[in-house]
Amino acid sequence: MSAHRLPRAQTLTAEQWAGRACVWCGVPLAQGAISVGIARGCVGSVNLDAEVFACPDCTTNPGLQGGN
Ligand SMILES: [Zn+2]
Repeated sequence: MSAHRLPRAQTLTAEQWAGRACVWCGVPLAQGAISVGIARGCVGSVNLDAEVFACPDCTTNPGLQGGN
């Protein structure tokens, strides 16, 4: 598998954690967001696992980030 690895949940921004921004490039996700799995992590005893989303560019071009 060459898919992106998901970052740890505790490293995400609030927007990424809430599914409002691409988990990899951080662009706001107004539409076309694609569920890419569960980012897992915790801070102390607080479980931060959350379903995260990515933009179409990141999901269709694995390995390519920060283009444009
Ligand atoms: Zn992206």
